[in-house]
Amino acid sequence: MYNSENNQIYEKVTSLAAKAEAEISSVFARIDEISYKNTQKVLRSFAEHRVSESMFAASSGYGYDDRGRDTLDEIWADVMDAESAIVRHSIVNGTQAIAIGLYGLLRPGDTMLAITGKPYDTLEQVIGIAGEAGNGSLSDFGVDYMQVDMIDGQRIDYDSVGKILRDQEKNGKKIKVAFIQRSKGYLNRRTLSVEEIGEAVRFVKSISPETYVFVDNCYGEFTETREPTAVGADIIVGSLIKNPGGGMAETGGYIAGTRRAVELASYRLTSVGVGGEVGATLGQNKSMFKGLFYAPHTVAQAIKTAIFAAYMFEELGYKVEPKWNEVRSDIIQTVITESADGLCAFCRGIQAGSPVDAYVTPEPWDMPGYLDKVIMAAGTFVQGASIELSADGPLKPPYTAFFQGGLTYESGKIGIMSAASEILKSSLSHK
Ligand SMILES: *Cc1c(COP(=O)(O)O)cnc(C)c1O
Repeated sequence: MYNSENNQIYEKVTSLAAKAEAEISSVFARIDEISYKNTQKVLRSFAEHRVSESMFAASSGYGYDDRGRDTLDEIWADVMDAESAIVRHSIVNGTQAIAIGLYGLLRPGDTMLAITGKPYDTLEQVIGIAGEAGNGSLSDFGVDYMQVDMIDGQRIDYDSVGKILRDQEKNGKKIKVAFIQRSKGYLNRRTLSVEEIGEAVRFVKSISPETYVFVDNCYGEFTETREPTAVGADIIVGSLIKNPGGGMAETGGYIAGTRRAVELASYRLTSVGVGGEVGATLGQNKSMFKGLFYAPHTVAQAIKTAIFAAYMFEELGYKVEPKWNEVRSDIIQTVITESADGLCAFCRGIQAGSPVDAYVTPEPWDMPGYLDKVIMAAGTFVQGASIELSADGPLKPPYTAFFQGGLTYESGKIGIMSAASEILKSSLSHK
Protein backbone atom coordinates (compact mmCIF):
# COMPACT_ATOMS: atom_id res chain seq x y z
CA MET A 1 0.00 0.00 0.00
CA TYR A 2 1.43 3.37 -0.98
CA ASN A 3 1.64 6.20 1.45
CA SER A 4 4.39 8.73 1.98
CA GLU A 5 5.52 7.25 5.28
CA ASN A 6 5.91 3.75 3.83
CA ASN A 7 7.67 5.27 0.88
CA GLN A 8 10.16 7.05 3.12
CA ILE A 9 10.88 3.84 4.98
CA TYR A 10 11.32 1.98 1.71
CA GLU A 11 13.78 4.60 0.48
CA LYS A 12 15.71 4.56 3.74
CA VAL A 13 16.00 0.78 3.91
CA THR A 14 17.02 0.36 0.26
CA SER A 15 19.66 3.06 0.39
CA LEU A 16 21.01 1.62 3.64
CA ALA A 17 21.13 -1.84 2.04
CA ALA A 18 23.16 -0.46 -0.86
CA LYS A 19 25.57 1.21 1.55
CA ALA A 20 25.83 -2.01 3.55
CA GLU A 21 26.64 -4.13 0.54
CA ALA A 22 29.31 -1.75 -0.67
CA GLU A 23 31.08 -2.04 2.66
CA ILE A 24 30.59 -5.71 3.58
CA SER A 25 31.83 -7.13 0.27
CA SER A 26 35.35 -7.42 1.65
CA VAL A 27 34.07 -9.68 4.43
CA PHE A 28 31.99 -11.66 1.94
CA ALA A 29 35.18 -12.58 0.08
CA ARG A 30 36.47 -14.21 3.28
CA ILE A 31 33.21 -16.15 3.69
CA ASP A 32 33.37 -17.35 0.07
CA GLU A 33 36.91 -18.59 0.64
CA ILE A 34 35.82 -20.69 3.64
CA SER A 35 32.89 -22.07 1.67
CA TYR A 36 35.20 -22.91 -1.24
CA LYS A 37 37.67 -24.78 0.96
CA ASN A 38 34.94 -26.74 2.72
CA THR A 39 33.26 -27.56 -0.59
CA GLN A 40 36.60 -28.83 -1.89
CA LYS A 41 36.94 -31.07 1.14
CA VAL A 42 33.41 -32.43 0.71
CA LEU A 43 33.73 -33.01 -3.03
CA ARG A 44 37.09 -34.72 -2.69
CA SER A 45 35.67 -37.08 -0.10
CA PHE A 46 32.61 -37.84 -2.26
CA ALA A 47 34.95 -38.75 -5.12
CA GLU A 48 37.26 -40.85 -2.96
CA HIS A 49 34.32 -42.79 -1.61
CA ARG A 50 32.91 -43.29 -5.09
CA VAL A 51 29.50 -41.87 -4.28
CA SER A 52 27.00 -43.28 -6.76
CA GLU A 53 23.27 -43.25 -7.29
CA SER A 54 22.87 -46.74 -5.84
CA MET A 55 23.75 -45.27 -2.43
CA PHE A 56 20.54 -43.27 -2.44
CA ALA A 57 18.41 -46.42 -2.50
CA ALA A 58 16.12 -46.92 0.49
CA SER A 59 16.78 -49.79 2.85
CA SER A 60 14.16 -51.26 5.15
CA GLY A 61 13.98 -53.56 8.15
CA TYR A 62 17.35 -53.96 9.86
CA GLY A 63 19.02 -52.00 7.13
CA TYR A 64 21.99 -54.39 6.92
CA ASP A 65 24.64 -53.46 4.38
CA ASP A 66 23.14 -50.09 3.54
CA ARG A 67 26.07 -48.80 1.48
CA GLY A 68 24.74 -45.28 1.40
CA ARG A 69 24.53 -45.08 5.18
CA ASP A 70 27.96 -46.61 5.73
CA THR A 71 29.55 -44.40 3.07
CA LEU A 72 27.97 -41.23 4.38
CA ASP A 73 29.34 -42.09 7.84
CA GLU A 74 32.84 -42.45 6.35
CA ILE A 75 32.59 -39.22 4.37
CA TRP A 76 31.31 -37.35 7.40
CA ALA A 77 34.26 -38.60 9.46
CA ASP A 78 36.62 -37.50 6.69
CA VAL A 79 35.17 -34.03 6.34
CA MET A 80 35.21 -33.52 10.12
CA ASP A 81 38.80 -34.86 10.42
CA ALA A 82 37.44 -37.52 12.76
CA GLU A 83 38.18 -41.26 12.91
CA SER A 84 34.55 -42.23 12.81
CA ALA A 85 31.02 -40.82 12.54
CA ILE A 86 27.37 -41.79 12.63
CA VAL A 87 24.83 -39.74 10.70
CA ARG A 88 21.18 -40.74 11.03
CA HIS A 89 17.84 -39.34 9.98
CA SER A 90 16.46 -41.20 13.01
CA ILE A 91 18.20 -38.91 15.51
CA VAL A 92 15.31 -36.56 16.16
CA ASN A 93 17.22 -33.38 17.03
CA GLY A 94 20.40 -31.89 18.41
CA THR A 95 19.37 -32.56 21.98
CA GLN A 96 19.04 -36.27 21.30
CA ALA A 97 22.39 -36.38 19.51
CA ILE A 98 24.04 -34.80 22.55
CA ALA A 99 22.15 -37.09 24.95
CA ILE A 100 23.24 -40.17 22.97
CA GLY A 101 26.84 -39.03 23.25
CA LEU A 102 26.64 -38.28 26.97
CA TYR A 103 24.86 -41.50 27.93
CA GLY A 104 27.30 -43.37 25.71
CA LEU A 105 30.34 -42.09 27.59
CA LEU A 106 29.22 -41.57 31.18
CA ARG A 107 28.83 -44.31 33.82
CA PRO A 108 27.54 -44.30 37.42
CA GLY A 109 30.03 -42.52 39.65
CA ASP A 110 31.49 -40.50 36.75
CA THR A 111 31.54 -36.73 36.65
CA MET A 112 30.73 -34.45 33.76
CA LEU A 113 32.30 -30.99 33.88
CA ALA A 114 30.84 -28.22 31.74
CA ILE A 115 33.68 -25.75 31.10
CA THR A 116 31.78 -23.13 29.09
CA GLY A 117 28.99 -22.47 31.56
CA LYS A 118 25.51 -23.88 31.55
CA PRO A 119 24.80 -26.10 28.54
CA TYR A 120 21.86 -25.46 26.20
CA ASP A 121 18.47 -25.28 27.95
CA THR A 122 17.13 -28.58 26.67
CA LEU A 123 20.09 -30.40 28.24
CA GLU A 124 19.20 -29.42 31.80
CA GLN A 125 16.72 -32.27 32.14
CA VAL A 126 19.10 -34.69 30.44
CA ILE A 127 21.80 -33.85 32.98
CA GLY A 128 19.30 -33.71 35.84
CA ILE A 129 19.82 -30.11 36.97
CA ALA A 130 16.17 -29.40 36.10
CA GLY A 131 13.02 -31.48 35.95
CA GLU A 132 11.83 -34.24 38.23
CA ALA A 133 13.97 -36.99 39.65
CA GLY A 134 13.15 -40.45 38.36
CA ASN A 135 12.81 -39.65 34.67
CA GLY A 136 16.14 -41.23 33.85
CA SER A 137 18.43 -38.22 33.76
CA LEU A 138 22.19 -38.71 34.03
CA SER A 139 21.84 -37.67 37.67
CA ASP A 140 19.32 -40.50 38.27
CA PHE A 141 22.02 -42.87 37.04
CA GLY A 142 24.55 -41.51 39.53
CA VAL A 143 26.46 -39.22 37.18
CA ASP A 144 27.70 -36.06 38.91
CA TYR A 145 27.69 -32.69 37.24
CA MET A 146 29.98 -29.71 37.74
CA GLN A 147 30.08 -26.42 35.91
CA VAL A 148 32.57 -23.60 35.43
CA ASP A 149 31.18 -20.40 33.96
CA MET A 150 33.10 -18.37 31.43
CA ILE A 151 34.76 -15.21 32.76
CA ASP A 152 32.52 -12.27 31.84
CA GLY A 153 31.10 -14.53 29.14
CA GLN A 154 34.33 -13.91 27.26
CA ARG A 155 36.76 -16.72 27.96
CA ILE A 156 37.13 -20.07 29.69
CA ASP A 157 38.08 -19.85 33.37
CA TYR A 158 41.19 -22.02 33.14
CA ASP A 159 42.17 -21.53 36.78
CA SER A 160 38.92 -23.03 38.02
CA VAL A 161 38.83 -25.79 35.39
CA GLY A 162 42.45 -26.70 36.17
CA LYS A 163 41.80 -26.82 39.89
CA ILE A 164 38.83 -29.15 39.49
CA LEU A 165 40.72 -31.45 37.14
CA ARG A 166 43.73 -31.61 39.49
CA ASP A 167 41.59 -32.15 42.61
CA GLN A 168 39.81 -35.04 40.93
CA GLU A 169 43.11 -36.60 39.84
CA LYS A 170 44.40 -36.29 43.42
CA ASN A 171 41.36 -38.15 44.72
CA GLY A 172 42.01 -40.92 42.25
CA LYS A 173 38.95 -39.91 40.26
CA LYS A 174 38.84 -38.34 36.85
CA ILE A 175 36.53 -36.03 35.08
CA LYS A 176 35.08 -38.42 32.51
CA VAL A 177 33.65 -35.77 30.19
CA ALA A 178 34.67 -32.13 29.78
CA PHE A 179 31.80 -30.46 27.96
CA ILE A 180 32.18 -27.47 25.65
CA GLN A 181 29.40 -25.62 23.86
CA ARG A 182 30.91 -23.96 20.81
CA SER A 183 28.11 -21.55 19.98
CA LYS A 184 26.80 -18.99 22.41
CA GLY A 185 23.38 -20.46 21.70
CA TYR A 186 20.91 -18.24 23.49
CA LEU A 187 23.30 -17.13 26.19
CA ASN A 188 25.05 -13.90 26.79
CA ARG A 189 28.53 -15.20 26.06
CA ARG A 190 31.01 -15.36 23.23
CA THR A 191 31.03 -18.12 20.68
CA LEU A 192 34.33 -20.02 20.76
CA SER A 193 36.48 -20.38 17.68
CA VAL A 194 37.89 -23.77 16.73
CA GLU A 195 41.33 -22.41 17.66
CA GLU A 196 40.09 -21.61 21.18
CA ILE A 197 38.48 -25.04 21.48
CA GLY A 198 41.85 -26.53 20.51
CA GLU A 199 43.49 -24.63 23.37
CA ALA A 200 40.85 -25.94 25.77
CA VAL A 201 41.40 -29.51 24.58
CA ARG A 202 45.17 -29.24 25.07
CA PHE A 203 44.67 -27.75 28.53
CA VAL A 204 42.26 -30.47 29.69
CA LYS A 205 44.41 -33.28 28.28
CA SER A 206 47.61 -31.88 29.80
CA ILE A 207 46.11 -32.44 33.26
CA SER A 208 43.75 -35.32 32.62
CA PRO A 209 44.68 -37.15 29.40
CA GLU A 210 41.86 -39.69 29.65
CA THR A 211 39.06 -37.15 29.90
CA TYR A 212 36.81 -37.13 26.87
CA VAL A 213 36.41 -33.63 25.48
CA PHE A 214 32.86 -33.37 24.18
CA VAL A 215 31.76 -30.47 21.96
CA ASP A 216 28.18 -29.41 21.31
CA ASN A 217 28.92 -28.25 17.76
CA CYS A 218 25.40 -26.98 16.95
CA TYR A 219 25.41 -23.89 14.68
CA GLY A 220 29.18 -24.07 14.26
CA GLU A 221 29.66 -26.49 11.37
CA PHE A 222 31.38 -25.11 8.25
CA THR A 223 31.67 -21.58 9.60
CA GLU A 224 35.43 -22.24 9.65
CA THR A 225 37.63 -24.56 7.61
CA ARG A 226 38.12 -26.95 10.53
CA GLU A 227 35.83 -28.58 13.07
CA PRO A 228 36.72 -29.19 16.73
CA THR A 229 37.62 -32.82 15.94
CA ALA A 230 40.53 -31.45 13.89
CA VAL A 231 41.99 -29.90 17.05
CA GLY A 232 41.63 -32.90 19.32
CA ALA A 233 38.01 -32.99 20.54
CA ASP A 234 37.03 -36.61 21.20
CA ILE A 235 33.44 -36.22 20.15
CA ILE A 236 31.33 -33.55 18.42
CA VAL A 237 27.61 -33.61 17.80
CA GLY A 238 25.01 -31.59 15.98
CA SER A 239 21.67 -31.38 14.22
CA LEU A 240 20.96 -31.87 10.51
CA ILE A 241 18.25 -29.20 10.46
CA LYS A 242 20.99 -26.72 11.27
CA ASN A 243 24.26 -26.17 9.38
CA PRO A 244 25.43 -29.60 8.20
CA GLY A 245 22.09 -30.62 6.68
CA GLY A 246 22.57 -27.76 4.22
CA GLY A 247 18.84 -26.98 4.26
CA MET A 248 18.29 -30.27 2.39
CA ALA A 249 18.10 -32.88 5.14
CA GLU A 250 14.53 -33.44 6.33
CA THR A 251 15.61 -34.31 9.87
CA GLY A 252 18.48 -35.99 11.71
CA GLY A 253 21.65 -35.64 13.72
CA TYR A 254 25.28 -36.71 13.70
CA ILE A 255 28.02 -37.78 16.08
CA ALA A 256 31.70 -37.72 15.03
CA GLY A 257 34.92 -38.31 16.88
CA THR A 258 37.45 -40.93 17.89
CA ARG A 259 36.68 -44.53 17.01
CA ARG A 260 36.04 -45.47 20.64
CA ALA A 261 33.90 -42.46 21.56
CA VAL A 262 31.69 -42.90 18.49
CA GLU A 263 31.45 -46.66 19.10
CA LEU A 264 30.27 -46.03 22.68
CA ALA A 265 27.71 -43.51 21.40
CA SER A 266 26.53 -45.98 18.75
CA TYR A 267 25.81 -48.53 21.50
CA ARG A 268 23.50 -46.01 23.07
CA LEU A 269 21.96 -45.06 19.71
CA THR A 270 20.86 -48.66 19.07
CA SER A 271 22.05 -51.16 21.65
CA VAL A 272 25.26 -52.51 23.07
CA GLY A 273 26.84 -54.91 20.60
CA VAL A 274 24.68 -53.69 17.72
CA GLY A 275 25.97 -50.13 17.31
CA GLY A 276 25.89 -48.39 13.96
CA GLU A 277 25.79 -51.47 11.74
CA VAL A 278 22.03 -51.38 11.44
CA GLY A 279 19.30 -48.86 10.84
CA ALA A 280 17.08 -48.63 7.77
CA THR A 281 17.45 -45.35 5.92
CA LEU A 282 13.96 -45.40 4.34
CA GLY A 283 15.01 -43.23 1.42
CA GLN A 284 16.61 -40.44 3.46
CA ASN A 285 20.19 -40.99 2.25
CA LYS A 286 19.90 -38.76 -0.79
CA SER A 287 18.77 -35.69 1.13
CA MET A 288 21.55 -36.19 3.67
CA PHE A 289 24.23 -36.59 0.97
CA LYS A 290 22.83 -33.60 -0.87
CA GLY A 291 22.66 -31.69 2.40
CA LEU A 292 26.33 -32.28 3.14
CA PHE A 293 27.18 -31.26 -0.41
CA TYR A 294 25.26 -28.00 0.01
CA ALA A 295 26.21 -27.32 3.63
CA PRO A 296 29.37 -25.21 3.10
CA HIS A 297 27.50 -23.01 0.63
CA THR A 298 24.29 -22.78 2.65
CA VAL A 299 26.22 -21.87 5.79
CA ALA A 300 27.97 -19.12 3.81
CA GLN A 301 24.56 -17.79 2.73
CA ALA A 302 23.39 -17.73 6.36
CA ILE A 303 26.55 -15.97 7.51
CA LYS A 304 26.28 -13.37 4.75
CA THR A 305 22.70 -12.73 5.81
CA ALA A 306 23.87 -12.30 9.42
CA ILE A 307 26.64 -9.90 8.35
CA PHE A 308 24.19 -7.87 6.29
CA ALA A 309 21.83 -7.71 9.26
CA ALA A 310 24.59 -6.72 11.67
CA TYR A 311 25.51 -3.81 9.44
CA MET A 312 21.93 -2.69 8.82
CA PHE A 313 20.78 -2.76 12.41
CA GLU A 314 23.94 -1.17 13.76
CA GLU A 315 23.41 1.68 11.30
CA LEU A 316 19.84 1.96 12.52
CA GLY A 317 21.17 2.48 16.04
CA TYR A 318 20.78 -0.98 17.58
CA LYS A 319 23.36 -2.92 19.51
CA VAL A 320 24.32 -6.05 17.58
CA GLU A 321 26.48 -9.07 18.36
CA PRO A 322 28.69 -9.97 16.58
CA LYS A 323 29.46 -6.85 14.56
CA TRP A 324 29.55 -7.12 10.77
CA ASN A 325 33.34 -7.26 10.51
CA GLU A 326 33.99 -9.67 13.38
CA VAL A 327 35.23 -13.21 12.71
CA ARG A 328 32.42 -15.73 13.21
CA SER A 329 32.31 -19.29 14.43
CA ASP A 330 28.55 -19.80 14.34
CA ILE A 331 25.58 -18.50 12.35
CA ILE A 332 23.78 -16.70 15.18
CA GLN A 333 23.24 -12.95 15.13
CA THR A 334 21.67 -10.95 17.90
CA VAL A 335 20.01 -7.56 17.69
CA ILE A 336 19.04 -5.81 20.91
CA THR A 337 15.72 -4.19 20.05
CA GLU A 338 15.21 -2.45 23.45
CA SER A 339 11.42 -2.83 23.43
CA ALA A 340 8.73 -5.48 23.22
CA ASP A 341 7.25 -3.68 20.21
CA GLY A 342 10.63 -3.63 18.53
CA LEU A 343 11.17 -7.35 19.07
CA CYS A 344 7.70 -8.19 17.77
CA ALA A 345 8.19 -5.91 14.76
CA PHE A 346 11.51 -7.57 14.00
CA CYS A 347 9.94 -11.03 14.08
CA ARG A 348 6.95 -9.87 11.99
CA GLY A 349 9.37 -8.60 9.36
CA ILE A 350 11.35 -11.85 9.26
CA GLN A 351 8.14 -13.86 8.95
CA ALA A 352 6.83 -11.64 6.16
CA GLY A 353 10.10 -12.12 4.29
CA SER A 354 9.97 -15.93 4.48
CA PRO A 355 9.12 -18.34 1.66
CA VAL A 356 6.54 -20.29 3.69
CA ASP A 357 3.76 -18.84 5.85
CA ALA A 358 4.69 -15.26 4.95
CA TYR A 359 1.08 -14.25 5.58
CA VAL A 360 1.18 -15.35 9.22
CA THR A 361 1.69 -12.83 12.05
CA PRO A 362 3.82 -14.21 14.87
CA GLU A 363 2.52 -13.51 18.37
CA PRO A 364 4.28 -13.90 21.73
CA TRP A 365 3.22 -17.03 23.63
CA ASP A 366 3.90 -18.87 26.87
CA MET A 367 6.32 -21.57 25.87
CA PRO A 368 6.70 -24.58 28.19
CA GLY A 369 9.86 -24.24 30.24
CA TYR A 370 10.25 -20.48 29.84
CA LEU A 371 9.40 -17.83 32.41
CA ASP A 372 8.74 -15.06 29.91
CA LYS A 373 6.64 -15.08 26.80
CA VAL A 374 8.60 -15.93 23.67
CA ILE A 375 8.04 -14.76 20.11
CA MET A 376 9.23 -16.77 17.12
CA ALA A 377 9.36 -16.25 13.40
CA ALA A 378 9.96 -19.22 11.12
CA GLY A 379 8.61 -19.57 7.63
CA THR A 380 10.58 -22.68 6.80
CA PHE A 381 10.30 -25.65 4.45
CA VAL A 382 11.49 -27.98 7.19
CA GLN A 383 9.66 -27.47 10.47
CA GLY A 384 11.86 -25.65 12.97
CA ALA A 385 14.89 -25.68 10.70
CA SER A 386 17.15 -22.91 11.90
CA ILE A 387 19.50 -23.05 8.92
CA GLU A 388 16.49 -21.42 7.27
CA LEU A 389 15.80 -17.79 8.12
CA SER A 390 14.30 -17.75 11.59
CA ALA A 391 14.21 -15.50 14.63
CA ASP A 392 13.07 -15.61 18.21
CA GLY A 393 13.49 -13.94 21.54
CA PRO A 394 12.07 -13.83 25.05
CA LEU A 395 9.87 -10.82 25.88
CA LYS A 396 12.09 -9.44 28.57
CA PRO A 397 14.64 -6.63 28.63
CA PRO A 398 16.74 -5.92 26.67
CA TYR A 399 14.42 -7.60 24.13
CA THR A 400 17.12 -9.40 22.21
CA ALA A 401 16.22 -10.90 18.86
CA PHE A 402 18.27 -14.02 18.14
CA PHE A 403 18.24 -14.92 14.54
CA GLN A 404 20.00 -17.20 12.14
CA GLY A 405 19.80 -18.81 8.77
CA GLY A 406 18.79 -17.89 5.30
CA LEU A 407 18.99 -20.60 2.62
CA THR A 408 20.02 -18.03 0.04
CA TYR A 409 21.63 -14.66 0.70
CA GLU A 410 19.15 -12.97 -1.62
CA SER A 411 16.15 -14.23 0.35
CA GLY A 412 17.91 -13.54 3.64
CA LYS A 413 18.58 -9.99 2.55
CA ILE A 414 14.92 -9.52 1.69
CA GLY A 415 13.92 -10.91 5.09
CA ILE A 416 16.30 -8.55 6.89
CA MET A 417 15.11 -5.54 4.87
CA SER A 418 11.57 -6.52 5.78
CA ALA A 419 12.53 -6.71 9.47
CA ALA A 420 14.25 -3.31 9.26
CA SER A 421 11.13 -1.78 7.66
CA GLU A 422 8.84 -3.22 10.34
CA ILE A 423 11.09 -1.92 13.12
CA LEU A 424 11.19 1.56 11.57
CA LYS A 425 7.41 1.54 11.18
CA SER A 426 6.91 0.47 14.78
CA SER A 427 9.30 3.12 16.14
CA LEU A 428 7.58 5.85 14.08
CA SER A 429 4.15 4.87 15.35
CA HIS A 430 5.43 5.38 18.92
CA LYS A 431 6.71 8.90 18.42
C1 LIG B 1 20.02 -26.09 18.69
C2 LIG B 1 21.01 -26.37 19.74
C3 LIG B 1 20.98 -27.55 20.49
C4 LIG B 1 19.95 -28.64 20.29
O1 LIG B 1 18.71 -28.20 20.03
P1 LIG B 1 17.60 -29.05 19.26
O2 LIG B 1 16.49 -28.07 19.18
O3 LIG B 1 17.30 -30.22 20.11
O4 LIG B 1 18.10 -29.45 17.93
C5 LIG B 1 21.94 -27.72 21.44
N1 LIG B 1 22.91 -26.81 21.64
C6 LIG B 1 22.99 -25.69 20.92
C7 LIG B 1 24.09 -24.72 21.18
C8 LIG B 1 22.04 -25.42 19.95
O5 LIG B 1 22.12 -24.32 19.23
